[in-house]
Amino acid sequence: MIFVGSPGAGKGTQAAKLAEYLGVPRISSGDMLRETIASGTPLGKQAEPLMGRGNLVPDNLLIALVRERTAQEDCAQGFVLDGFPRTVRQAEGLAEMSDGEVSDWTVFSVQVPREELLRRLSGRRWCPRCQATYHVSSNPPKQDGVCDVDETTLVQRNDDKEEVVARRLEEYEQRTAPLIGYYRERADMVEIDGNRPMEMVFADLKKHVGVAA
Ligand code: AMP
Repeated sequence: MIFVGSPGAGKGTQAAKLAEYLGVPRISSGDMLRETIASGTPLGKQAEPLMGRGNLVPDNLLIALVRERTAQEDCAQGFVLDGFPRTVRQAEGLAEMSDGEVSDWTVFSVQVPREELLRRLSGRRWCPRCQATYHVSSNPPKQDGVCDVDETTLVQRNDDKEEVVARRLEEYEQRTAPLIGYYRERADMVEIDGNRPMEMVFADLKKHVGVAA
């Protein structure tokens, strides 16, 4: 399963819930990149300035990263992709990895109006240790500013700052939104109204994976 949606559309939250529900791994390209940065690898060094400015990281790096991850044993029964593919070239890379069987994929396109995206991104807080995310008003941690999972102090991601968010939204419009047309022609494409409470969106997703909500 694949999620396509703008930054702030709730892909990460929904992909995590769906992966848990189905008992398969969630593969988040953003989380993987942040891990490579934290561990100081050459890939991390290449990705960091691009991510910091809100630009996409080159397709070939992402394709290699996802190819390696999806070849691991825990992915044999399927997986939920979050944040990949983000360009048509990446979608083609993914099709090559899966022997061109794109018609087997379920693609969720999650749509949220721009005003709400900005509200969500500006209020998003993140745990640098376990990468859990919260929102200061709509999904706050139990204790103000502290991660529920490991009690690490929450921070705002650098790329959630206003000036970087504008660039990320442009990248989405120019390079990721064309994926909607790409998958509409090739896969089982489901359009999801992401501008609703988290649980309502999730109930909708569950209907589309063949299990009653
Ligand atoms: P995310 O955590 O999904 O919001 O991703 C954060 C940042 O990581 C993006 O703004 C990009 O700079 C980079 N990134 C994540 N996934 C991809 C991808 N599939 N292709 C290129 N860049 C990516």
